[in-house]
Amino acid sequence: RLDYRGISENVLYKSHNAFNRNVKLPVGAVQTVARLYEEYKQLLRAVQDKTTARNAIQYRIENSGGNKVLMRAAVEEAKAIKPEIAQLKAQLAEVEDRLVAIALSIPNDTHPLVPIGPESAANILSTHGPTPIPASPARDHVSICRALELLDLESAAVVTGTSWYYLTNEGALLELALINYALSIAMKRGFTPVTTPDVVRADIARRCGFQPRDQSVGPPVSQMYHIAPPEAEADSGSHHPELVLAGTAEIPLAGMFANKIIPSRTLPVKLVGLGHAFRAEAGARGADTRGLYRVHQFTKLELFVVTAEGQSDEMMEEMKSLQTDIFEGLGLSFRVLDMPTEELGASAYRKYDIEAWMPGRGSWGEVSSTSNCTDYQARRLHIRHDLQAPADSNTAGSRVQAGLAFAHTLNGTAAAIPRLIVALLENGARFDDEGQVVGIDLPRKLRPFWIGGRQAQGP
Ligand code: AMP
Repeated sequence: RLDYRGISENVLYKSHNAFNRNVKLPVGAVQTVARLYEEYKQLLRAVQDKTTARNAIQYRIENSGGNKVLMRAAVEEAKAIKPEIAQLKAQLAEVEDRLVAIALSIPNDTHPLVPIGPESAANILSTHGPTPIPASPARDHVSICRALELLDLESAAVVTGTSWYYLTNEGALLELALINYALSIAMKRGFTPVTTPDVVRADIARRCGFQPRDQSVGPPVSQMYHIAPPEAEADSGSHHPELVLAGTAEIPLAGMFANKIIPSRTLPVKLVGLGHAFRAEAGARGADTRGLYRVHQFTKLELFVVTAEGQSDEMMEEMKSLQTDIFEGLGLSFRVLDMPTEELGASAYRKYDIEAWMPGRGSWGEVSSTSNCTDYQARRLHIRHDLQAPADSNTAGSRVQAGLAFAHTLNGTAAAIPRLIVALLENGARFDDEGQVVGIDLPRKLRPFWIGGRQAQGP
């Protein structure tokens, strides 16, 4: 159930907000929602009035006391009103279909503190870790990986294509250690571990705010790989749901709660999901596509939270603090950014990115992203909770429905492996007097999670 009333009562804000977020709406979309919603309400009232009238006629038929004249008149009236109701219901369904289709294109509202504009307008909220070391091409992660045999891009190019990769030797062990390291921190903070399916229905992805086929709504749009049905099934003509490879575990994690009513005493529900993210990365070119920085598949540990309205801003801060712990423990130089409107996509009300210093690339690189999606996904996936909400939750007004309220959802990266590897190698590489890479200084906190390898302490 989308918030038609909220849209109709805030036409100017919603149009302006979509403009600020660079979301291209169909011409006059917000006004059309307001007009269709009026039509919808009128038709709904008409259906209700006619149904009440039909019930009254039915009563007269049943209580005519054997009076044939009265009975015949009532039966005639019943016959006349039946097609009228059917016609009104058909009109109502048609208006509702149009209303849903157009309202779905309207992005989430935006937190008042979010800066307006493109990526360059981001606010730096805080910086952490040691002073960034000087940029140096010798610290390029691809050459470090070659020297230490941590990455095989050549075989992957033959087996799959460019921007696919094998992690080898300690490269593979590093992935496992990073996952378990980040997982242990998330679990200490009360997040429950989950492994997720990497294949999801396109419909669930859409309801989370991703557009598997449409290229006009934001960055995740062109990122999805579609899965064709097995040939035998396709030939049999049997129905096969449209499936995509998940671009992020956020999709299967959010989907877990679809159509559910969550007891408010169990909120917030905090999950940490391990999955693979698949990204077509259409249009990606240049330095970003070198090595591990922008690849088509990566392992990602994702935080996902369901909470109540009024609690999600605070939860976003809690997630930021958890992520700060993870990156500080890795000894990285990093900064937290409040991302501007054009970077929010369709679903985020607010987004914090974390960028780590990568001296081989000579730039800051995004290693994590956290979004408060408020009720955007919950409305589309029908995720609700009952209203014995925490005492200070704000469940006022239009959002409350028959003792239930739409939940708020948040997602954030705990560990996106390839870029963490880039940051760790480029910052931690050790060189001999001739400038050859001889090893990597890995953070002490990773050691408990390191299994074996050519050197017990890492490459
Ligand atoms: P996103 O879900 O797009 O916010 O991405 C979450 C995190 O995944 C980012 O902060 C990056 O660290 C990482 N990431 C996103 N896209 C890629 C990619 N194509 N290759 C490697 N890492 C990626």
